Amino acid sequence: MRLLVVGSIALDSVKTPFGEAKEVLGGSATYFSTAASYFTDVSVVAVVGSDFPEEHYALLKEKNIDLRGLERVKGETFRWVGEYGFDLNEAHTIATELNVFQSFEPKVPEEYKDIDYVFLANIDPEIQLSVLEQVNRPKLVACDTMNYWIEGKFEALKKLLKRVDILIINESEAREFTKEPNLVKAADIILSYGLKYLIIKRGEYGALMFGDSSIFHAPAYPLEFVYDPTGAGDSFAGGFMGYISNTDNMSEDAIRQAIVFGSVMASYNVEAFSLDRLKNLEYSAIKERFKEFKRLTHFEDL
Ligand code: AMP
Repeated sequence: MRLLVVGSIALDSVKTPFGEAKEVLGGSATYFSTAASYFTDVSVVAVVGSDFPEEHYALLKEKNIDLRGLERVKGETFRWVGEYGFDLNEAHTIATELNVFQSFEPKVPEEYKDIDYVFLANIDPEIQLSVLEQVNRPKLVACDTMNYWIEGKFEALKKLLKRVDILIINESEAREFTKEPNLVKAADIILSYGLKYLIIKRGEYGALMFGDSSIFHAPAYPLEFVYDPTGAGDSFAGGFMGYISNTDNMSEDAIRQAIVFGSVMASYNVEAFSLDRLKNLEYSAIKERFKEFKRLTHFEDL
């Protein structure tokens, strides 16, 4: 099955305790689609400016990502400047320059309208809503957001949540959204918007899934070297949605497997800056790490 994503395509400047990268390829849709490309056919709706380097286009093309919905307009590409301290779970935003996203009105190409699986990656919730309005009855819609939009576009975000099946957010965002410090209580509040599942990402502590009647926890892969956590959440979502779209299966067992594939993709992504690790993976290595996750959490029953 095919997978559609709308989100940011960015030039990121990132500093971590282990290094620095300036004006490198980033953005929620970029990380998402690259991670998902190992599992399924991905189509992108986004916008870049006239300054967007040709080599970045070439990379996305090389991953077989469908760019018919990627507009290039006059102006500057979206930019994000961020920093991490030794606690790599928390990104500190130094600057967000929306640039060409400021006036972006997404036009979903006719060829994308019947795509069954839709992911609304982190971007202005009004843009996410507008894409949702243009597609025909997808089987599954999932979305992400961040504090920037929780603080700036709360009403649009609440409207959006009523129309999606799965929300994938960070734990600090879940707390900020609900003003509730306890994650189990916060999950109840968020699920009451009508979601089937809520997935809360907890950085190096893994991910928690809340459904109507079940909770699932996946650890993060214990890596010795983490260079840059930027894009971990989007790579997680890409692995997760990519696997679901590939299997066309939304049973809870498949959702749990998808969460582990998401965790695998996030673990690869943080091993290098930008897409440097994510862009060069073998599917056999992805499957091998999936199995390592199984061993990591296996224990014998009494
Ligand atoms: P994450 O997976 O949460 O680490 O997402 C990191 C990516 O999100 C970076 O590559 C940024 O370019 C992008 N980003 C940061 N802030 C925003 C925003 N307000 N809207 C859309 N994308 C953003």
